Amino acid sequence: MLYKDCIEKLLQLKDVIVTNIECTSGQIHVYLRMEQRLHYCPACGSITSKVHDYRTQLVRDISISGYETILHLRKRRHVCPKCGKRFDEHIDFLSRYRQFTNRVNLQIYEQLKKCRSIKDIAEDNNMSPPTADRIINAIEYKTGKLPEVLAIDEFRGNAEGEKFQCILADPKNRRVIDILPDRKHETIRSYLGRFRNRRDVRYVVMDMTGGYRNLMKDLFPWATIIVDKYHYVRQINYAVERVRVEEQKRLSDQWRKYFKRSKYLLLKDSDKLTREDRIQLDNLFRISEPLRKAYGLKQQFEYVKASDGRKEAAARLSKWIMDAQKSELKEFIKVSFTYQRWSKEILNSFEYPYTNGYIEGCNNRIKVLKRVSFGMPRFARFRRRIMHIMIN
Ligand SMILES: [Zn+2]
Repeated sequence: MLYKDCIEKLLQLKDVIVTNIECTSGQIHVYLRMEQRLHYCPACGSITSKVHDYRTQLVRDISISGYETILHLRKRRHVCPKCGKRFDEHIDFLSRYRQFTNRVNLQIYEQLKKCRSIKDIAEDNNMSPPTADRIINAIEYKTGKLPEVLAIDEFRGNAEGEKFQCILADPKNRRVIDILPDRKHETIRSYLGRFRNRRDVRYVVMDMTGGYRNLMKDLFPWATIIVDKYHYVRQINYAVERVRVEEQKRLSDQWRKYFKRSKYLLLKDSDKLTREDRIQLDNLFRISEPLRKAYGLKQQFEYVKASDGRKEAAARLSKWIMDAQKSELKEFIKVSFTYQRWSKEILNSFEYPYTNGYIEGCNNRIKVLKRVSFGMPRFARFRRRIMHIMIN
């Protein structure tokens, strides 16, 4: 029958016989049963199609044109003629003990990959948040092996009484390894210490905060530690900005406004400055010597960044450190000491291409997830969501 075929195609369910469709306000009810098939008895393996009785099960399906869709499935219970065992017929699109078709699960599974709140997703699918929660709770995230390149960072997750959580990732293959409940060294040590393939970790990427360097040296003494490029470059911009704020404070109102506007000019890459930008900066430097110096150091650091290889970078970086220490700008002197302490790891970034860019991206998505969910105080659930969003 053409009509029947159309409905089956529309429903995208295989081997069903649709007996009726009712539309009420906001809901579509589909009455159906499966085409009769032979079944194996789960007890003795005999083949049978003998029906013991029928039961109607209500199953939620994905919505049709925005209407909540409910299947009234007339399910057969078979009886084995040989051993008398009674058993339900097998239905491809429905797992046992489920009130939803498999494709509802699949749809939610896909939606959970987006940075949306459980509440939102549940609402979209006309189910309660705990039900949507159960779907994601059923997924387990196991961590296999440690990667060749391991990146570590922290983020402000505010879960289970801990302000910061720790994130471990494989930046080379763009994969989250795991999320740890806090950033304590004991936690990280005992977690990483469990892996049998620690020897496979050849590079560790981190930023200069968090104090992970000694911990990582302990755990992976054979590995090369690399400071994330974005992180150390950012220190320069922060320093320029702090000098600007200091200078702004001691100037008249009129200049203060001018300085405020200049914020973005100072941080802009110098090769992107227009003629007008340069004139404005020159005016600024004419009245503020510290700012001129700070900007000079920023540009000099761009020269360090542009180094071709480790050797050149080493020479340029140590020159920069010396110049910064002579600058009498306390902000830059501070940065120069940090760079001195981390120079080996900074120079490693000129030799190996690994950064924390991937983790940075993860952290941004975590922020969005936290915002749309109005916080995620339960760590286990938070971790599962992050893993789900980032792994796929
Ligand atoms: Zn049997």
